Amino acid sequence: MTKDSFANSILLIEDEENIRSFIFTTLKNQNYKVTTSSSGAEGLHLAASLCPDIILLDLGLPDMDGMEVISKLRSWTAIPIIVISARTNEHEKARALDQGADDYITKPFGAVELLARIRTSLRHSRQMQDMSSIHQKPYHYKNLTVNFENHVVTLNGEIIHLTQIEYKLLTLLARNSGKVLTYTFIMEKIWGPYTDSNNQILRVNMANIRRKIEKNPATPEYVFTEIGIGYRMAEGD
Ligand code: CA
Repeated sequence: MTKDSFANSILLIEDEENIRSFIFTTLKNQNYKVTTSSSGAEGLHLAASLCPDIILLDLGLPDMDGMEVISKLRSWTAIPIIVISARTNEHEKARALDQGADDYITKPFGAVELLARIRTSLRHSRQMQDMSSIHQKPYHYKNLTVNFENHVVTLNGEIIHLTQIEYKLLTLLARNSGKVLTYTFIMEKIWGPYTDSNNQILRVNMANIRRKIEKNPATPEYVFTEIGIGYRMAEGD
């Protein structure tokens, strides 16, 4: 139990009672402050009045489409949103992320996975808050280090030579490590908003990066493919 989790408040918007009580109990046991709502309208109202540290949002709500809840929230707040979805439709998950959700978790899920996603999102929002002022500390995981200050990427202590695009891609993923980034988001960040929607160029660059940093590109340790959605880099230490 950390002092930290005491302070964190979570708003859960979910209409299925079983799932709501499972999540509520799981989070309570970790000393999070939890408020629940079973509708989109009430959830939006609570979000505005409580300003929670994180919002867990079911996409299939009785009164409102979850996508609409996301866009309404994003019109005024950057509070991290983790989408809880029964839907296995990748398009929908990608759309929720592009709409401004930070992550998603697919039903059924266990307590361990849920808590890990919450910790990741909380860490990201804290990092975003102090990012403006100080230099960013290097990304480090297993044998890979990405030093954002001097633009050096090393694997087992040896410098990895990347093209400019490959470096931009890898740092984008490393800065958002632990979080899935959609193809659309990455394409816009690297190639600009008017780029071709065909993501072949992204796949080619990613294959090149993997050849350089992964021991076995087929079973990656650092950059994972979320099929039909995008990529997620292993969370740094
Ligand atoms: Ca539902």
